[in-house]
Amino acid sequence: MTVGVLALQGAFGLHVDLLESLGVRAVEVRRADQLDSVDRLVLPGGESTTMSMLAERFDLLEPLRDFCRSGRPVFGTCAGAILLGSEILDGRDDQHCLGAVDISVRRNGFGRQVDSFEIDVDVDALATAGLGDAPFHAVCIRAPVIERVGDGVEVMARIDGSPALVRDGAIMVAIFHPELAGDRRLHELFVG
Ligand code: GLN
Repeated sequence: MTVGVLALQGAFGLHVDLLESLGVRAVEVRRADQLDSVDRLVLPGGESTTMSMLAERFDLLEPLRDFCRSGRPVFGTCAGAILLGSEILDGRDDQHCLGAVDISVRRNGFGRQVDSFEIDVDVDALATAGLGDAPFHAVCIRAPVIERVGDGVEVMARIDGSPALVRDGAIMVAIFHPELAGDRRLHELFVG
């Protein structure tokens, strides 16, 4: 199995390192043709406006939408969550989303950089997958708030009552940075 990590901007290097530590082949993706040779894709955290701009400039928006429609698993974290959603609130006027998961996502919904925080969240799906029932340590950096989830979107974890980890079919979305938790279980769940 080869996992691609979108490497336009942001925390892609840490995802590659984490996936490799699990014994998975991980490659940085910057061009549309590279999507043909990956089985799964991670959209990392970073800055969604910049990622959108670069994805547009490198003609990646439609290929990424096609990838999401192909049924191959996708894991979007933080800015990646904003990119994967169907509606961006408080985005830039020229900012694109992929519309892969029916969620409305408010950029910086928890506040500014100084309002970043860490919190333990319960993720039942980890226990169900045999990955233990310890909570997952969520690192939230200028995190978005998922304000609406559409029909068929499963909420896997919440922070302050609002969805923090959701899934629609093969696409999983976290508002936090799992690559910074010192806990590989969400990546294990994703590659498993
Ligand atoms: N607020 C950022 C954005 O709009 C996301 C922050 C993050 O990925 N840590 O893209």
